[in-house]
Amino acid sequence: MLNLILFGPPGSGKGTQAENLIEKYGILHISTGDLFRYEMGNNTPLGIKAKEYMAKGELVPDEVTIGMLKNKVDANPDVSGIIFDGFPRTIPQAEALDAFLQEKNTEVTALVALDVPDEELVKRLLNRGKSSGRADDNDEEIIRNRISIYKSETAQVFDYYAQNGKSKLIPGVGSIEEIFDRLVAAIDEAC
Ligand code: AMP
Repeated sequence: MLNLILFGPPGSGKGTQAENLIEKYGILHISTGDLFRYEMGNNTPLGIKAKEYMAKGELVPDEVTIGMLKNKVDANPDVSGIIFDGFPRTIPQAEALDAFLQEKNTEVTALVALDVPDEELVKRLLNRGKSSGRADDNDEEIIRNRISIYKSETAQVFDYYAQNGKSKLIPGVGSIEEIFDRLVAAIDEAC
């Protein structure tokens, strides 16, 4: 299986690139942010719980997030690979993912991280907020909180996979096509 972690701060272009990558590699896209938004839209107990955290730009607790992720993977047993977008965001999530994939006799192939300067992230997210309908994209304070949580809680996941030589840093500024080509080169090298 081709198991890719598409990594990077909010606004780095993970969602956009994931759309193109699933087409090229024919694999499943799992975005924990999208899953939470779906649950929220349906007012499920999980969605109501997630909303408390998402509205502030904070992380939803690991236990809730990991359970939801596992359910989604288990619901798609026949896929040839998965792009994990927005997951793992903490070391316990990374450890849980590794253990879970190991049970399935597979592992993370590579983590590809999009590198984008903070001010560019803020600009992109405020711009996306005009049309995304996402409350967390509309408020600069919440956006800055999401970036700061990325640095304090999430960035270490890059180092965690770097220990096994699996992490790759990709410049995330340029045209969508240029960035896509860089991602494909890094992924093909890892396979
Ligand atoms: P995203 O769409 O990836 O920007 O995620 C939007 C929000 O969903 C985040 O700010 C978090 O509140 C929540 N979220 C998404 N993925 C995770 C995760 N792996 N762990 C914890 N919270 C998450």
